Amino acid sequence: MTDPILEVEALTKHYPIRQGIVFGRVVGTVRAVDGITFRLDRGETLALVGESGCGKSTTARLVLRLIDPTSGTVRFDGADITDLAGEQLRKLRRRMQIVFQDPFASLNPRMTVGEILEEPLIVHAIGTRTERRARVNELLGLVGLAPYHAQRYPHEFSGGQRQRVGIARALAVEPGLIVCDEPVSALDVSIQAQVVNLLKDLQARLGLSYLFIAHDLAVVKHMADRVAVMYLGQIVEIARKDDLFRDPRHPYTRTLLAAIPRPDPHRDTHRQIPGGDVPSPMNPPPGCRFHTRCPFVIDRCRIEMPALMRWSDGHLTACHRAADLPATDETTASHVAPVAARRLALYAERRAAATAATG
Ligand code: ADP
Ligand code: MG
Repeated sequence: MTDPILEVEALTKHYPIRQGIVFGRVVGTVRAVDGITFRLDRGETLALVGESGCGKSTTARLVLRLIDPTSGTVRFDGADITDLAGEQLRKLRRRMQIVFQDPFASLNPRMTVGEILEEPLIVHAIGTRTERRARVNELLGLVGLAPYHAQRYPHEFSGGQRQRVGIARALAVEPGLIVCDEPVSALDVSIQAQVVNLLKDLQARLGLSYLFIAHDLAVVKHMADRVAVMYLGQIVEIARKDDLFRDPRHPYTRTLLAAIPRPDPHRDTHRQIPGGDVPSPMNPPPGCRFHTRCPFVIDRCRIEMPALMRWSDGHLTACHRAADLPATDETTASHVAPVAARRLALYAERRAAATAATG
């Protein structure tokens, strides 16, 4: 049984592009987020991955109701929050928080860490002054910092420590959902694992749900329960993490996986990255948005946009060719062949189910 904390349906954000300074006429539209649907269960981590500019941060802002959607709905804890405003929206802010990529830019340099951590408690009128001070110490402990760090300023910390402060600030008001927008992308590789482990540890202790945004799949490997892959404002694949890494069913997901550097020197390091630039979200290709870069393109892909289809094992893919893609890696064909056979069986099942439903 699933217990969603967050349900997003057909969520869309279009930005009009105006020409002229004051009352410029609209000359185009950026389709930053274009009809995405997903859910996040309580206590779960859903990773949202995709190249820069595909709409990940816009999705984060929409979910947190920091910006208004063009259309679609966001449900949090079973309630529709799409149109909340004023006091109701302010109350909602206690229950969902964000951790940003760059803690240096998001922490006020003129405030001590103690003041930074106390601020959300003051804003939401939580506790007396003494209680708030105790809570600040508790928060520092939770993220592996010491009480004396409260007197320091953000510039006195290393990148990893600053991100710990950013996480402590998000935790201050005891939210159920934390949106992490590329929380380790700006950190040294050696520090990334520490912050990822801290987030996992906090999740286990506090029962948090995470929407975890990253631009490459390597980072989500140890973090996510499920992964949603975005391309040009749309979701092209959603699957449990292990299924996605073992049996990617969208050509774009395969290119993201192929781009992860491998340590094995005997392996062919030739990367299967498709040619061509990422098209602009102002003028996305018709049909399947990935067709201009897809090695498996057929005529249908240029005309008809594929819907996100559910396989009988729960895996979701938006690709006309998902059922007949060749094995992922020829060198491991003996391992992959059963996977491909299983996929064909699933596809047959799905078609049978569709026929039963319509017939
Ligand atoms: P990501 O986080 O995946 O890198 P973003 O969500 O930041 O992507 O941006 C998605 C697209 O929307 C980009 O093309 C970006 O330029 C555009 N965009 C984001 N915010 C705005 C805005 N306020 N006005 C116009 N375009 C925007
Ligand atoms: Mg972003």
